[in-house]
Amino acid sequence: MSNLNETHDPKLTSWVTSANEPGTDFPIQNLPFGVFRRRGATAGFRIGVAIGDQILDLRELQAAKLLDGGAQIGLDACTGSVLNDLMANGRDIWSALRLGLSRALRSGSPLQAKLEPMLVPQAEAEYAMPARIGDYTDFYASIHHATTVGKLFRPDNPLMPNYKWVPIGYHGRASSIGVSGDDFPRPSGQLMPKGATEPVFGPCQRLDYELEIGIFMGNGNAQGTRIKLDDAEDRVFGLCLLNDWSARDIQAWEYQPLGPFLAKNFASTISPWIVTLEALEPYRTAWERPAGDPQPLAYLVSAQNRAEGAFDIQLQAQLTTEKSRAAGTEPAQLSQSSFRHSYWNIAQMVAHHTVNGCNLQAGDLLGTGTQSGPTESEAGSLLELSAGGQKPLNLPWGEQRTFLEDGDEVIMRAWCEKDGLPRIGFGSVSATVLPAID
Ligand code: CA
Repeated sequence: MSNLNETHDPKLTSWVTSANEPGTDFPIQNLPFGVFRRRGATAGFRIGVAIGDQILDLRELQAAKLLDGGAQIGLDACTGSVLNDLMANGRDIWSALRLGLSRALRSGSPLQAKLEPMLVPQAEAEYAMPARIGDYTDFYASIHHATTVGKLFRPDNPLMPNYKWVPIGYHGRASSIGVSGDDFPRPSGQLMPKGATEPVFGPCQRLDYELEIGIFMGNGNAQGTRIKLDDAEDRVFGLCLLNDWSARDIQAWEYQPLGPFLAKNFASTISPWIVTLEALEPYRTAWERPAGDPQPLAYLVSAQNRAEGAFDIQLQAQLTTEKSRAAGTEPAQLSQSSFRHSYWNIAQMVAHHTVNGCNLQAGDLLGTGTQSGPTESEAGSLLELSAGGQKPLNLPWGEQRTFLEDGDEVIMRAWCEKDGLPRIGFGSVSATVLPAID
């Protein structure tokens, strides 16, 4: 807990009174970054920070020159419509900006009157992608997900022998990643019906969600160098929610021998707010290996990483359908898990990604892979919850689902909560499946 500072003080309150309400995702101890504008405005998108139910416009704050030192240097990197420049500035500047914002938004701040006109209600905002993502890599860091899915795809060989040694991942597609609210058509592709000898072409019949965390890289490494395990978190700007939509039938037919391709690259959706690692400091937890499992190779393990390399982040996925929305029914609960169950942690994924000299750059996105917990109800996808489509889920309003139907909306949320500490929330990410295009 050596990284805690005055911005984490649970007693801090804000003059933005909605930030002091119990249950808010965005108390003054959070201060996540995003890109927004007033809904329907013709002006461009700009960078903001969430506080309570408001957004502080950082472009206006930059122009007012009210902060100084590293905080103002950070603001000077916030005049564009993506966070890449701030991400490239590195941890000292991120931290100085966080401290400056925390002091300016605190109860009793002399800047209150000057900042009040810079607030936009979140209820009146729309969001854009928070960063220009150069490269996207998706890991497979939950052993519970890997084992359950492995059983469905390969009953005799569920977990590959490399799994407990290598943080498995693949290079995905950055250009089809959207922000919450970006609905997308059901993908079509090659499907191999059960018992058939030749594939058919048509709309995906087994469309699924994947409950993941996205890791946004800050200042990265030059090609030919590596990021060491104990330096890795200093290079991570923050985390968001990630729904890695997946076409299971396309996947089953195409994935061997090179892995996921068209089953994964048609759409992924992230939450608008990026929660900084600094905001998550109070929610660190020990990273452990189950007894009997091999210990990682030396470049993937350290005393520091064992002591506090995992983060206890609660994850939740919910579903609404055309029928439930028409009836005004509450969303159905699908998945509930925690990132603390992950077999590989954030620093290990970053260290492994660069161990061969591969360069990561500011704005690159790493997905953690579906974060399923140890019990059945903690599964982070319909593939697992429905046992590969064998066991339909009964929804509270009378419908059933094995996989997603047109009009279905998946909503994901994440938050950290502990007695005596402020809740640090991620907000939500949601999107709706549209009918397949011709
Ligand atoms: Ca995935």
